[in-house]
Amino acid sequence: MNAIIFILYFVIIETSLIQVDKYAAIRNKMVETQIEARGINNASVLKAMRKVPRHLFISAEYGDDAYGDYPLPISYGQTISQPYIVAYMTEIVKPSKDKKALEIGTGSGYQAAVLAETVDSVFTIEIVNELAVAASATLKKLGYNNVTVRSGDGYNGWVEHAPFDIILVTAAAERIPQPLIDQLADGGRLVIPVGQSGNTQELQLVTKRKGKIEISRLLYVRFVPFRRAEKTDNNKAG
Ligand code: SAH
Repeated sequence: MNAIIFILYFVIIETSLIQVDKYAAIRNKMVETQIEARGINNASVLKAMRKVPRHLFISAEYGDDAYGDYPLPISYGQTISQPYIVAYMTEIVKPSKDKKALEIGTGSGYQAAVLAETVDSVFTIEIVNELAVAASATLKKLGYNNVTVRSGDGYNGWVEHAPFDIILVTAAAERIPQPLIDQLADGGRLVIPVGQSGNTQELQLVTKRKGKIEISRLLYVRFVPFRRAEKTDNNKAG
């Protein structure tokens, strides 16, 4: 009897290890072929992309597609960005362990997890309450205690925690929200897709030095639209 239990135990452990290894190998390949091959070389970003279990932020039905070279749908008509874009945006904001970051557009929480691996703390805002709740639960389950998720319109940033060294916006805005520029720390970097939804947008980098703003254009991207909350009594203050 004991022997049978031992064998069963062994089989279960082995199977779960194989599962972990299966995705680790796919993830390493993703980093090598989609990310390093396209010039991302920040060691902490590469390490984070190798570590964060992207498949756990996406519906299980997508299986290995979680590591494909394309964006994927999450719920409520939103998408999780292509892995390369997540890595690119994380590298361009120059993450380091002493920095505080704000993300607008939590979605699945995947980008927040990648950021959380590379900075001190992440504050992230999601306008779809159900997505905010789900992302918060996923991040908690995976042990990301340095990420705080808030549900609401991120247009006004998060004044209580400002200024931020890094601001990363993952929804396309027609104009860069002024409150986000105001909440960028001196020496800080903000990355945002700018342009109309439905079209390709331009990823722009905003840097602030001695209060002076500089904007550079990076590459063409396609993101879901940055939305505004309707003005109700509940979110007027946001
Ligand atoms: N970073 C996400 C991908 C997000 S897709 C991830 O890694 O999965 C963009 C998200 O921005 C969507 O979930 C959308 O609901 C959200 N969004 C759009 N406008 C917003 C706003 N004004 N404030 C906060 N979130 C917003």
